[in-house]
Amino acid sequence: DVVVKNLRKDFGGNTVLHEVSFTIKDGEFFTLLGPSGCGKSTTLSCLAGLEQPTSGSIAVGSTVLVDDSSNKFVPPEERNLGMVFQSYALWPHMTLAENLAMPLNIRKVPKAEQKTLIHDALDKVGLAHLSHRYPHQLSGGQQQRVALARALVYSPKVLLLDEPLSNLDAKLREQARVWLKRLQSELGITTVYVTHDQEEALAMSDRIAVMSGGNMLQVAPPEEIYERPATAEVAAFIGRSN
Ligand code: ATP
Ligand code: MG
Repeated sequence: DVVVKNLRKDFGGNTVLHEVSFTIKDGEFFTLLGPSGCGKSTTLSCLAGLEQPTSGSIAVGSTVLVDDSSNKFVPPEERNLGMVFQSYALWPHMTLAENLAMPLNIRKVPKAEQKTLIHDALDKVGLAHLSHRYPHQLSGGQQQRVALARALVYSPKVLLLDEPLSNLDAKLREQARVWLKRLQSELGITTVYVTHDQEEALAMSDRIAVMSGGNMLQVAPPEEIYERPATAEVAAFIGRSN
């Protein structure tokens, strides 16, 4: 499990995460949902190690990634997490295969093993046949798949996805949603997904954490969030006012 305890993040004098605690079960599709600025990306960055929390702790299984009380901080490249950001930022001057080799090089995976890993990861997203193309020679949807393959290439324990479909138009996004959800359950990989799209969250998640102003208002399965919103704010955000 991914266990987050009392996670707090201040930027300057501003607290953008107020001691949030939550646990993500193994294999779960867990979504952080909330309006712009509520702290979704900050939470993900703390998980990834791109930001250091002001206080609190994060552990994956028996491995503590960060804990302010013991001054522990595992750097991002040692966390065994795959990440895809809103702008998937493939390196434009590198082929798909070269893009996927980068995280392997960083992790010092021997060249002899890389070819198979790269092929397998591109195969998972259905693009193994395009490995010698450059990013600009792909559609937006294909680029997004390559970004996902790059996050999967070193078989991470946890996948962190920050609005990975937001660059796609409505129709492609709909298809990508179904496809991504299927791949996630086939791989059984624990996934933390960030979106501000209620429908997307309701359709894809095992559980949803509804965030507002750096707090978690409710953490529950989609049906429960929809049927029994914990607060008026959750109800309003989910599109139900009762
Ligand atoms: P969005 O849906 O727009 O991506 P979000 O929920 O991901 O929003 P965050 O990016 O986590 O929101 O930002 C939460 C708050 O923290 C915002 O008020 C933002 O301005 C602030 N913030 C984020 N990163 C920094 C930073 N590096 N320095 C200062 N403030 C920051
Ligand atoms: Mg964000």
